[in-house]
Amino acid sequence: MIAIVKNSATTEQLDHLVRWIEGRGFKTNVSRGENETVVGIIGDTTQIDPFLLESMDIIDQVRRVTEPFKKANRKFHPEDSVVDCGFGVLLGGGHFQVIAGPCAVEGKGLLRIARAVKRAGASMLRGGAFKPRTSPYAFQGMGAKGLDLLMEASEELRMPVVTEVMDPRDIQLFLDRGIHVMQVGARNAQNYSLLRELGQTRVPILLKRGMSQTIDELLMASEYVMSEGNPNVILCERGIRSFETRTRNTFDVNAIPVLHQLTHLPVVGDPSHATGYTRYVRPAAYAACAAGADGLEIEVHDNPSEAWSDGAQALTPDQFADSMRRIALIREAICQDLDGVDA
Ligand code: PEP
Ligand code: MN
Repeated sequence: MIAIVKNSATTEQLDHLVRWIEGRGFKTNVSRGENETVVGIIGDTTQIDPFLLESMDIIDQVRRVTEPFKKANRKFHPEDSVVDCGFGVLLGGGHFQVIAGPCAVEGKGLLRIARAVKRAGASMLRGGAFKPRTSPYAFQGMGAKGLDLLMEASEELRMPVVTEVMDPRDIQLFLDRGIHVMQVGARNAQNYSLLRELGQTRVPILLKRGMSQTIDELLMASEYVMSEGNPNVILCERGIRSFETRTRNTFDVNAIPVLHQLTHLPVVGDPSHATGYTRYVRPAAYAACAAGADGLEIEVHDNPSEAWSDGAQALTPDQFADSMRRIALIREAICQDLDGVDA
């Protein structure tokens, strides 16, 4: 249930309302926007009489919310969330960012790729140090050493890093080094103990959609992080499993506008894992931008045929630079206000 509070309400009146609700055993989520303040009421709200609430002077309207995701719900929080990723890089609410870098950190070569993606306009660096590989015999990532290499590149280039955390026991390694954004990969999208632990931090979480996860399940996964107190969640559409075998996954571009309708959280598209082949990455990236993504995550390698993982879907730095120019043009077209046309 949400209560929309009148603009004229004072802070004392709002505090009084929150205490009144919480005194009845409910949790609240107060979202102060520019135009309205919304109080989300969390718990078994069948116990609350909406007419009683509506009769209060400061309440404008009371509405029932049927979706089980509360903190991520746009009804509770009408304005887009903006996540501060470090080094002044904001993501969401009109702040568009491109995260680029190799699938895995492979050694000192990271710095070369990082410099190239930065030169082309990427604002965040990616690279896996802990790799969730289908085979236990494949390269598993450089571990803590990989995190150190990411932070060295980050310091030199003054850009935040995004890297995957797979195990709650490793979180401290990420915190000790000041990793800017922790990624939860598709394979861990419903690892609820990991999500809860990440919710105990305040580090931004890039939450990838599981390969057979519905949009609602993705939102419930974000709820695990947010309900522990970490509001800094970025969602990522990275393709889902379908009957199609010509591409690694099927890019659910629909999910981008659907998520924007349902949630205030920023949504990023990953055309690399969504397609699995270099030749399809750029068209999928353009589609994600045109569909309103708040950012992209793209794998880039300066020698894809020698990459230790996901070389088949890597863009070279030149291909990436070319795509960045086209992405800027697409965004210019999409973000333009055309008179007299409803959004
Ligand atoms: C990755 O980003 O390298 C990765 C493993 O992605 P996903 O979890 O989407 O497969
Ligand atoms: Mn990868």
